[in-house]
Amino acid sequence: MVKRAGVIGWPIQHSLSPALHRYWLRQYGIEGIYEAIEINPRDIKDIWSIINPQECCGFNVTIPHKETIVAQLDRIDEASRSIGAVNTVTYKEGMWQGTNTDVYGFSQHLISSVSNLKKKRALVLGAGGAARAVIYALKKLGFAHITCSNRSEEKAQKLAHDFHIHHAAWSNKDELATTSDLIVNATSLGMKGKEHLELNLNEASPHTVVYDIVYNPGETALLANARKHGMRTVDGLGMLIHQAVPAFAAWFGVTPEPDEKLEKHLRQHL
Ligand code: NAP
Repeated sequence: MVKRAGVIGWPIQHSLSPALHRYWLRQYGIEGIYEAIEINPRDIKDIWSIINPQECCGFNVTIPHKETIVAQLDRIDEASRSIGAVNTVTYKEGMWQGTNTDVYGFSQHLISSVSNLKKKRALVLGAGGAARAVIYALKKLGFAHITCSNRSEEKAQKLAHDFHIHHAAWSNKDELATTSDLIVNATSLGMKGKEHLELNLNEASPHTVVYDIVYNPGETALLANARKHGMRTVDGLGMLIHQAVPAFAAWFGVTPEPDEKLEKHLRQHL
């Protein structure tokens, strides 16, 4: 039987996931289907009348369903529980099971892009679902000192409390940037059509790595500025590609290898 998977979201036309998974289906000669499924937030409670295991082996979850899908699943793993969000669902052993592969996507891409990564001080900007996945990943990677800073400070405080890390006022981020080995933008600032993330890097060390999880545009103003200061930069497209690897493997039985051709292919869809 042809295996069918997809991505749920609202709206969903912008999603790169169909282009990504269809590329691998073609590359590995798998007769599978991957489709974009638009689900209105008010219908998430009725998801199993829209998706059923006879037809679908699993799906990705994107905005705004990453948190609300949790209550509809039979089982979620420890990472999803800590983060409070699921981005990948697989039908396995008669159960809908949720995981958060953003953690794997972020770590894997960071490790594969940066040699001699200094795992001491990390500054994470943002306190939404993506920031929670990034912080979970940084803790697993063994970063010694992680600070979160967010425009709405109470969210940063909650996150710091949940993950036993530090938090700092949004107005202090420039100062913190000067002592960080890794800076991660996990806000939606810098996305095409949104304001830039203003971060003063004049006093930052050229050894600092700047990672922007935003992937459209490929080089955000933050990354362009970091590059001008001679800092190492990492953009978000690699995270998006790597987070799809365990999902594709779980659904279609082949572990795909991310490559530059795929990146080029996806950039054409941005
Ligand atoms: P979210 O839960 O809505 O969180 C958005 C974050 O951005 C919050 O911390 C919010 O701060 C901050 N923010 C928004 N507008 C701001 C502004 N004008 N000034 C300062 N801060 C602002 O979203 P999310 O799911 O965490 O996603 C965040 C970004 O990560 C999105 O761009 C998404 O596309 C990207 N992402 C990329 C990948 C990947 O694979 N590369 C994976 C997941 C997400 P407040 O709390 O103050 O509102």
